[in-house]
Amino acid sequence: MSLTHSKSDHGKGRECVITRRASFSASHRYWLPEKNPEENFALFGKCSLAPGHGHNYELIVSMGGELDTYGMVLNLSDVKYSIKEKVIDPLDFRFLNEVWPEFDIAKDNGILPTTEALVRIIWNRLKNDLPLTSLRLYESPNLWADYYGKKMEALLTVQTHFNAAHRLAKDDLPLSENKKIYGKCARINGHGHNYFLDVTVRGRIDPRTGMICDLPSLQTIIDDLIIEQLDHTFLNKDIEYFKNCVPTCENIALYISDKLSNPIKNIGATLHKVRLQESPNNAAEIYVEQSLTNSLQIKLENSLVNQI
Ligand SMILES: [Zn+2]
Ligand SMILES: [Zn+2]
Repeated sequence: MSLTHSKSDHGKGRECVITRRASFSASHRYWLPEKNPEENFALFGKCSLAPGHGHNYELIVSMGGELDTYGMVLNLSDVKYSIKEKVIDPLDFRFLNEVWPEFDIAKDNGILPTTEALVRIIWNRLKNDLPLTSLRLYESPNLWADYYGKKMEALLTVQTHFNAAHRLAKDDLPLSENKKIYGKCARINGHGHNYFLDVTVRGRIDPRTGMICDLPSLQTIIDDLIIEQLDHTFLNKDIEYFKNCVPTCENIALYISDKLSNPIKNIGATLHKVRLQESPNNAAEIYVEQSLTNSLQIKLENSLVNQI
């Protein structure tokens, strides 16, 4: 078989995922007719206030397929047309509670237009037109939902930040050795970062409230257990855990995932991922639900078996 391709069909038949971004502005209100005003306020806070409030939403559509002879997965004009016709035109500058029948809460099966409920219904509007692999919907730069076509399951991410100082060095090593391992990060008096923390939870979208879990409770857990504890500290000295553990970005992300896992379970969701951005140049991600090391180990073992 020849491995050479003519210039015109380079890549044809090979798989690729493409993304397209679109944005719209819309308002919504979290209000259930079966609850009284006090109950609605207790559940949804200011989001329950009439007549509602708005967001500038951003939608990222991911699609997969094989390249055609023109070097494309899909014709972008068709992609743009479908997203505009099925999502942007119906939603832009509208009151979400009234645009689609799924959000008619006067009906028993109506659902509130939360980010996670909305991204799922957008998927249903687009799935017959486009070979979707995932959708991401940003309600704001600090809150977004991901959907992969798994019935009522979705991911919800909240982003927060804190500032802290640290020094990377192992107590049992001489300074010269620590400098070899950690570079400038081993300097005696430490240095600081503005950390960005993304916490992603997975769960089932409630068919009525449209929520994976109670968002204010999730934010309170993150604020109380992480932000309040770590913000404006010198991690090595102020946080007991890091007196014996080098506070690398990876170790801080692990510490955060261990702290959050059970409290998030207690509000009915599962901690899926913790991403800690230490600087524009480096970040650490902990996939709480799967062991990357184990899967790498299995691959390694399989390749060894194959060699024998
Ligand atoms: Zn809102
Ligand atoms: Zn550092």
